[in-house]
Amino acid sequence: MREFDFLAPKSLNAALRAIGEKGLNYTLLAGGSNAIPDMRAGKTASGLLVDIGGIRSLKYIKEEAGTVRIGALATLAELLDSPIIRSRAPVLWEAARRFAGPLVRNRATVGGNLAEASPAADTAVPLLALKARVKLERLQASRTVGLDKFFTGYRKNALKPGEILTEVSFPIPPPETKQGYCKMGRRRAMAVSVVSVAALVRMDGKSCTDLSLALGAVAPTPLRALKAEAALRSRVASKGALRSCARAAAAEAQPIDDLRASAAYRRRICQVLVNRTLCQALGLEDESPAPAKEEIG
Ligand SMILES: Cc1cc2nc3c(=O)[nH]c(=O)nc-3n(C[C@H](O)[C@H](O)[C@H](O)COP(=O)(O)OP(=O)(O)OC[C@H]3O[C@@H](n4cnc5c(N)ncnc54)[C@H](O)[C@@H]3O)c2cc1C
Repeated sequence: MREFDFLAPKSLNAALRAIGEKGLNYTLLAGGSNAIPDMRAGKTASGLLVDIGGIRSLKYIKEEAGTVRIGALATLAELLDSPIIRSRAPVLWEAARRFAGPLVRNRATVGGNLAEASPAADTAVPLLALKARVKLERLQASRTVGLDKFFTGYRKNALKPGEILTEVSFPIPPPETKQGYCKMGRRRAMAVSVVSVAALVRMDGKSCTDLSLALGAVAPTPLRALKAEAALRSRVASKGALRSCARAAAAEAQPIDDLRASAAYRRRICQVLVNRTLCQALGLEDESPAPAKEEIG
């Protein structure tokens, strides 16, 4: 491990001051579930390590004027324990339930998961479907960016030097909104997503009036599947229409081969999981075939 100067500020202002003076030569540490392994592997440049984990003002989950606000330091375990998340955003609650295992969930923060900007970041997918926004703060200034604009490329985000992601928020979906989430990994727990899907659907009788659909691990960034959304919006949500929407999502995906799955397998599973997620949200039986394990590779 390389040598670092270490700071553990107790206030956001102190942290912003410290990194504001450092230009690019600093690393933030929140829960440390990714940052510490990166440091051990020598991937982090030496300089200043700023542990923001003790800033209590960034640890909250609250509901305010029709909006859910989550402080960047809220952990995955806290999402799972939150009655607000469970009742207002079951799609996010389910993603938290499927995230890693209890040890990692106790450390991993929502802010860290988003800042990593991994295509497989499991909170990003439901939060994109919820049309979330992130607050990025620097000394004496702050800006809010739609989460769909925050991810700018593979493991790249819109944070500028001197900024900290302090909050993610989303409008509370109308109560009649149906929500679904599916994740496929190579095993049930402690597994990075091979594909993940989140959907929010609104219906008027048998017609879909609105759909928000997000995909994980099938492109350089987590993404909203806008063409697939348009394929179902204002249509009768028949099983055939759900299958067409799933086909459109698979066509929109830009998967790659990696150690977890081939691009072709990811595209196929994307189609299966979108159909499954929509069926789950709408309370319909999913008749698509189960993904075959031996096809992973
Ligand atoms: C065994 C294991 C299993 C895992 N399983 C999953 C999984 O199932 N799903 C999944 O999505 N991820 C998984 N991860 C990845 C990881 O746990 C998450 O990405 C985690 O949420 C990162 O949060 P953290 O607080 O630990 O961030 P850290 O490791 O502290 O930081 C991660 C990065 O984000 C930056 N950062 C952190 N907070 C902020 C902030 N507020 N503002 C700006 N930059 C910030 C840091 O500088 C660093 O570059 C797993 C990791 C491990 C080790």
